[in-house]
Amino acid sequence: MNSRRDFLQKLGLSALALQLAPLAGWAAGTDKIEQPYDGPVLRVAIMGLGGYGGMVAQAMQSCTKAKLVGVISGTPSKVKAWQSKYGIPDKNCYNYQNFDDIKNNPDIDAVYVITPNGLHRDFVIRVAAAGKHAICEKPMAVNAKEGQEMVDACKKANVKLLVGYRMHFEPKTLEVIRMRQNGEFGKIRFFQGQCGFTIGDPAQWRLNKQLAGGGSMMDIGIYAINGARYMTGEEPVWVTAQETKTDPVKFKEGVDETIQFQFGFPSGAVASCLSTYNMNNLDRFFLDGEKGFAEMQPSTGYGPIRGRTHLGELNQPVTTHQTVQMDEMAEIIFNNKKPVVPVNGEEAVKDLKLIDAIYLAVKTGKKVEVSI
Ligand code: NAD
Repeated sequence: MNSRRDFLQKLGLSALALQLAPLAGWAAGTDKIEQPYDGPVLRVAIMGLGGYGGMVAQAMQSCTKAKLVGVISGTPSKVKAWQSKYGIPDKNCYNYQNFDDIKNNPDIDAVYVITPNGLHRDFVIRVAAAGKHAICEKPMAVNAKEGQEMVDACKKANVKLLVGYRMHFEPKTLEVIRMRQNGEFGKIRFFQGQCGFTIGDPAQWRLNKQLAGGGSMMDIGIYAINGARYMTGEEPVWVTAQETKTDPVKFKEGVDETIQFQFGFPSGAVASCLSTYNMNNLDRFFLDGEKGFAEMQPSTGYGPIRGRTHLGELNQPVTTHQTVQMDEMAEIIFNNKKPVVPVNGEEAVKDLKLIDAIYLAVKTGKKVEVSI
């Protein structure tokens, strides 16, 4: 009778493989042995234990190449709760005053900054000064100048700076990009990106100019900006934009409620986008080319992403975006892997230049030329 051990021995696998075998599963429906991952694991501390930090932490439990090992928080009770939930040792727990000491901690490779936008710049610069790789949530900063300072600080410290652009690893999005690169839509003519939701609590940081850097554009409109770039494969050369505000009490000076904006691309293609904190059911991308189209709805939410092209439904696998993102980021940090669409600080500065241009176009009412 063939035991599993006999079978593995017949395959000539080493004693090491036998030791690893209990971890290895059999790939469903094939006779291929799935090898356990034995490469380097990115050891990550999360800074900012709020809503999205919690989602990333949960998703990281399914990562093979990245592991949550530390926390940085101003709230001791949250630290305790995360320690017991995720088995985080005391020596990997910091607060906003003492986290510079992380430089002396050899058990942490990277810090993932998931705090309000207005704090990203200073925190990332401190992470870089501590010699750790920085992963930062979007928007990376509140304007391009601050974003560039972060890029420069990470370069100087010789650490990587990556941004939480989870859509850059999403299978249906990548399929549309592949089709476009392969010429399957023909010459691209038009992109439409509609991103928004109705925001609740008027006291939250997202409606505070100091902490948010702006309004809906910073938080959700950035998906349409970034999407316009990766869907068309071009960088805008001009921007126009118009703001409407129906509730100036909730959306104060400098906090945009709704902005419609347009981009022009070197090929002659154009984009028409909407960013809002005051409408629902807006999570939709449409890409139109001479030979075909792609439409996605939802296009950037947590999923499942759905979409179709002129050839039919997109049926690539549904993934947990943050799990894939963190495993891919480990590859980028350790092996210099180049993602299809970059997720580095320079990529984020491009979006921030466009946000700056959109706000300028709103203020002046003029067409703004940009060089990305
Ligand atoms: P949140 O309010 O749920 O959490 C923010 C965390 O930052 C909290 O734990 C809070 O205690 C902490 N914090 C530290 N200093 C603070 C201060 N001075 N004021 C307020 N809070 C402070 O927010 P969130 O939804 O987790 O968003 C955090 C970041 O993540 C933002 O940059 C946001 O744009 C980004 N985000 C990204 C995605 C995505 O899909 N990539 C989704 C949601 C949020």
